[in-house]
Amino acid sequence: TPLLEIRNLRASIGDKEILKGLNLVINAGEIHAIMGPNGSGKSTLANVLMGNPAYTVTGGDILFKGESVLEMSPDERARKGLFLAFQYPVPIPGVTLVNFLRQAVNAVRGEEVPIREFREKLFSKMELLKVDQDFARRYVNDGFSGGEKKRAEMLQMAVLEPAMAILDETDSGLDIDALRTVAEAVNKLMNPNMGLLLITHYQRLLNYIRPQFVHVLVDGRIARSGGPELAEYLEARGYDEFLAELAKA
Ligand code: ADP
Ligand code: MG
Ligand code: MG
Repeated sequence: TPLLEIRNLRASIGDKEILKGLNLVINAGEIHAIMGPNGSGKSTLANVLMGNPAYTVTGGDILFKGESVLEMSPDERARKGLFLAFQYPVPIPGVTLVNFLRQAVNAVRGEEVPIREFREKLFSKMELLKVDQDFARRYVNDGFSGGEKKRAEMLQMAVLEPAMAILDETDSGLDIDALRTVAEAVNKLMNPNMGLLLITHYQRLLNYIRPQFVHVLVDGRIARSGGPELAEYLEARGYDEFLAELAKA
């Protein structure tokens, strides 16, 4: 069975249909990129995969390890091994990154992880990702730069060890430091048992992370799929031809 299988997925916000029959299969060990113009439904897809209650699934199915997740809460999905890095992480005053990560691990494991075990894991992941020890003692997102937010997010992904990670990148925000942080972490954390879905407007990130599969999302559907060359094609040509086809239809 594939790690993640999205079958003819339809989803709405209020009475506005955003995803209009989306199909996608991701196997363990694969990196897929979804690219698309602004408003095509990329973030909606990420939210629907994680079970954000603001969105209503009106058709199709999402199978994770062969099991439908549609009836599962976001917490249950996370416990099954789905991970979503958020587009706009919010500051959490008074909570240090260490404590935040410990709570996250406990929540995903469904039990209190012994502090010593947690600290060993955290420190080994910090070493792997070359994160400074002082960084973990800071308050979550309090005055974090773009690059530091990404470092925190990648550290979270590292300690949670998800089977399937979904990274939804902003359409603008990421500077080169942030891009490198994400790319280096992903390249270190990716493994044959894990799948990755990279959602991105720009091809830039794909200079640092090479996906095996690239999909173009237009108006809530996959309009074309290909290999890494499709990302280069989009970088050169933009989304105009896809939008023109849409206008004709
Ligand atoms: P993308 O991430 O590809 O830019 P989104 O998934 O954010 O696209 O948005 C898809 C469509 O849904 C857009 O037309 C957007 O205006 C609309 N949309 C997104 N979030 C909301 C919301 N909370 N309420 C109403 N419409 C929304
Ligand atoms: Mg957008
Ligand atoms: Mg978006």
